[in-house]
Parts: sequence; C-alpha cells; structure tokens
Amino acid sequence: MPPITLTNLGKVYPGGVRAVEGVDLSVADGEFVVLVGPSGCGKSTTLRMVAGLEDISEGELRIGDRLVNDVAARDRDVAMVFQNYALYPHLTVRRNLSFGLERRRRTLGLSKADIAAKVETTARSLGIEGLLDRLPKQLSGGQRQRVAVGRALVRDPAVFLFDEPLSNLDARLRVEMRAELRVLHRRLRATMLYVTHDQEEAMSLGDRMVVMHDGRVQQIGAPMEVYARPVNRFVAGFVGSPAMNMLDGEVVDGVRGPRFRPRVGGELDCPRTSHRGPAVLGMRPEAIGFVPLSSGDGPEVEIEAVERYGDRGDAWLRLGNGERRLVHRGAASDLPAEGLRVRLAILDEGVHLFEAGGLGRRLGSLADEDGFEEG
Ligand code: ADP
Repeated sequence: MPPITLTNLGKVYPGGVRAVEGVDLSVADGEFVVLVGPSGCGKSTTLRMVAGLEDISEGELRIGDRLVNDVAARDRDVAMVFQNYALYPHLTVRRNLSFGLERRRRTLGLSKADIAAKVETTARSLGIEGLLDRLPKQLSGGQRQRVAVGRALVRDPAVFLFDEPLSNLDARLRVEMRAELRVLHRRLRATMLYVTHDQEEAMSLGDRMVVMHDGRVQQIGAPMEVYARPVNRFVAGFVGSPAMNMLDGEVVDGVRGPRFRPRVGGELDCPRTSHRGPAVLGMRPEAIGFVPLSSGDGPEVEIEAVERYGDRGDAWLRLGNGERRLVHRGAASDLPAEGLRVRLAILDEGVHLFEAGGLGRRLGSLADEDGFEEG
C-alpha cells in the first residue's frame, strides 16, 4: 500500500466556501511530493486534511491501508513542519525535540535514556547538536527551521508533512535549506508531502509536483515533465520563471502545415495541430529570439529593456502595437541593444499551442515529435 492515498478528496468550509474538490493522489513509499499553486488554490487545506487538522468533507484518505478520515491527528503517524516553526519559546532546543516523545513515553515504550539518545542522534543528523541548550529566541531563522524539522524527525513518523516551511527565510537561506531538505530526504528515504506557492521550490524539491488551481488538481508529474508538457495554459504560465509568454492569435493553413498568426500581425512557426482558428501561442523566454526587420515574417518588436545577471540576462520586448510585453532569456553577451526594433523568431522547442478559452487545454508543442491531435 502506498503510504498516502487521497481519493476524490474535497473540502467545503462551514459557510459554504469550497476550498478543495475531487483530489486524487497517491504518494509512493519514500516519495517527495510537492503541492504547488497560487495563494488560495487549496493546497494548505489539502495538507491539513492529511494531517488531521481539518475535517474531510468528501472522499477518502488512507495512510497505509488504513482509512483515516475520522482518525485524530495524533493517531495518524504523521509529523508536520509549519511555516512559523511552532517551537515552544520557553523550552530549550533539547526539550523542544524531546517534548512530544516524553508526553507519549509510556505508549511508545521508551525510557528516558532512549529519548535522550534519539534527541542526540537527530540533532547530530541536522548539525544542531551544539544548540541543544539554547532557547528558540537565541537561534537564527535557519537554525529554528532545523529544530522544527528535528521535532518531526525524532518522532520517526510514517509520513512527513511540510506547510511552506521555508517561506519565512531570506532568499539565500531558502535556497540553502532547500538543498538540505533534498539531502535529508535522500538520506531518510521518507515519504514527504510538501506545500509551497513557489514553483521554483516545487520544481527543485519534488520527485513529483501537483499543480493546483481553484481547489482542483491541474497536473501531476515529475517537475521537468510538467515544465516540458504542461496540460493547459494555467500550468504553462505558472511553472517556469520568467513566466511563459502568451500571444493571442489564430492558427491558419500555411504551405507546409499550420502557421500561427498573432493578433498583432506577422506569422510564426506553429506546433503541429489539426486545430484552426483562435488559439494562444505560449513561448518560453528561452525559446524566442530575434532577426533583423528585413528578414523573417515574425511580428515586429522593440527591445524595451535589457537586464543582465552575470552569465544570463533578460530582454523585455514590446510588440509593434504596444499591446503586450514579452520576455526573452539568453546569454548575457548575446542580448540585443535597448531601443532596437527587430522581428520575433522562434528558436527552439519550448513553444506550445493552447485553446483560447477556459483553462486553455494544450493542443500541441513544437517538442512533440509528430504533434498530437486534440481530443
Ligand atoms: P492555499 O494554501 O493554496 O493558499 P487554502 O487551502 O489556505 O489555500 O485556502 C483555499 C480556499 O479556502 C481559499 O479560498 C480560502 O479563503 C478558503 N479557506 C481557507 N481556510 C478557511 C477557513 N478556515 N474557513 C473558510 N474558508 C477558508
């Protein structure tokens, strides 16, 4: 049995707010799965239902082969790490780590010496053994975060749950802690379910990511698979930074297959599709480039601003009629000069065609070997 199985899970809050609907997800033993989506999409509610902190309105939740919809949080064999750490301020790190075990010492059949040993081992594994006699207020943000993780670790639970655990840290520390969590996961081979609104964090941490929107799962997959083959415009726009460029227009017949005609004028290569008519062309910032005005038939753009970050950089482009900005990402040394007028060209495969309406189902990608037909 997989450690966690969500079947058609749903949540309606008292007062009628529907937060989560029809979530199906199976987390494999030892897997690191990240729930990701914009604020309000229902990811925390989903995690809190797994933790037992929120009643389940619909569907089934299993931990192992046990149905736990109505099982109390403390009896679910899960441990949760919160965004605000939730450390006891008046207890030392040592007591913060041992507290949960001490409270249940008899049930767990542990001696005081067992607990002390577990605390020492856990502290060493997180590199906080030198901090055991400090109070939380005497720790840095990163150290507090480690203690919070340690508190989950000592309990040796079947499943670890994380609710935005890194969002209170500064950018640099966040990236460091991200790598530490990844290493920790590899070492423990523990089952982890993690919530974040940060798509980069989701991509870097997860074996698989679950992209949510409006209470529903949009796509589940390995990060690079979701990046390369987003199921719809929402996922395409959410995953990747800078965000995918979207251009409204229509698919028309060309001499050698379909062409995309942006509303602002010009023509671009189009993924293979049998669709004709209104559509949206999505282009990764790395997938677009430029040619001189005198060549090609792409829409005309003006290079509005150029930003360089060491080896790479972004060029912000304004389309001919000033309607929309696009962004190109490339090697800093190859970026065009600000103020230049050029034509947009497609460089590589990160180009997708989406339906114009609704969530914008993906119709095809340049990466698809032979495209695929809708339906
Ligand atoms: P996320 O974690 O993705 O930001 P949440 O799961 O916290 O989203 O919230 C999903 C939706 O449920 C939102 O519309 C939110 O306003 C609503 N919601 C969250 N908690 C409550 C609550 N206790 N009572 C009523 N509505 C809630």
